[in-house]
Amino acid sequence: MDIQALLAKAEGDCAPVFARLEKTELRNTKRVLDAFHEEDVAARHFAPTTGYGYDDIGRDTLERIFARLFGTEAAIVRPSIACGTAALSLCLFGLLLPGDHLLSATGAPYDTMETVIGVSGNAAGSLKEMGVEYSQVDMCENQTKIDVPAVLAAIRENTKVVLIQRSRGYAWRASVLPRDMAEVIRAVHEKRPDIFVMVDNCYGEFLCEDEPTHFGADICVGSLIKNAGGGLAPTGAYLAGTERAVERVAARLTAPGLGREVGSYAASYQPFYQGLFMAPHTVCQALKTAVLAARAFELLGMKTTPAFDAPRSDIIQAIEMCTPERLIAFCQGIQAASPVDASAVPEPWDMPGYADQVIMAAGTFVSGASIELSADAPMRAPYTVYMQGGLTYAHGKIALEKALEKIAQLRG
Ligand SMILES: *Cc1c(COP(=O)(O)O)cnc(C)c1O
Repeated sequence: MDIQALLAKAEGDCAPVFARLEKTELRNTKRVLDAFHEEDVAARHFAPTTGYGYDDIGRDTLERIFARLFGTEAAIVRPSIACGTAALSLCLFGLLLPGDHLLSATGAPYDTMETVIGVSGNAAGSLKEMGVEYSQVDMCENQTKIDVPAVLAAIRENTKVVLIQRSRGYAWRASVLPRDMAEVIRAVHEKRPDIFVMVDNCYGEFLCEDEPTHFGADICVGSLIKNAGGGLAPTGAYLAGTERAVERVAARLTAPGLGREVGSYAASYQPFYQGLFMAPHTVCQALKTAVLAARAFELLGMKTTPAFDAPRSDIIQAIEMCTPERLIAFCQGIQAASPVDASAVPEPWDMPGYADQVIMAAGTFVSGASIELSADAPMRAPYTVYMQGGLTYAHGKIALEKALEKIAQLRG
């Protein structure tokens, strides 16, 4: 296998897809700039604050910018929210009360949400422990569409939140485009205007020119060390939604009565602003990396999802490696090309809470940031690797070359 020739052929095939992605980057950069201009962003917004953080203009302005981008009345954008799971948990505990019912419209939720909800077992502090009921409706048409009639049929008298997960997560299902959420959102609200439609938007920001809230979702939730932080935000998460939803969440964020009015940050807000400014570009770089990987492995006859030229609503690329050796070689190649921790050699290990061994490759500036290039997989047939991120396409391409070299060496 001539790796250079393979990548050159793949890159040529990807040209029309890249052109489409760059058009989205341009439009989204324009949207971000418009929001910055409307809020008249200036150096004073980057200044740190301490203590209660009353009248923190850096925080308040950033929250208004997110609200503008998501087309919502309000937003919460905080470095103090530890991660995406913490923001999703905060949102659920804000919206749900004991005796309420939570309904997932996209099948099983992301792994870490199982403990929050209390799907299996009964983790201390879970929604289940608090007396919240849970059920889920699987996606239909081979896991590509939300089953709207089934979702409507699953609504109970006490249903308070319908949860949509935009990303495929680490399941072999399709991601959901914001416009494809419109039908279920409208149908749920027609039947029951009081229900909150909440979207786990992790990995989805800036993939399209609109977000789920533009199609009527009550609230969108995501991590700042993924897409929306542009690779620069060092920590944190956001929620953007209606005043009615955000107000409830804000009472849990700090305290009822205090809400969004308090919360300081003793470092600079500058990386959050600059990260948001970079985000449409960074997402485009990550997507070009994913598309190139998909095409290169498709040319080698391997199964990928999504296909290189398919529409995308998240940054995850799944590739069936077919053998454990190939999967390990791929991950070791990605690791060896990382800017940080390149000398680490990833091996499968027994990660707590997982049935199979897991292998992970990542060498990131921001610890654990999956907008930076990373790959991971459970060690089970068909040995599917999930890769995502990449701050620059050049790095993505070099890393793929390395991964392909490691795979080629298996045969030598
Ligand atoms: C990453 C992710 C989460 C959890 O976010 P963490 O920051 O890892 O806690 C939840 N849902 C989806 C779809 C994700 O991609």
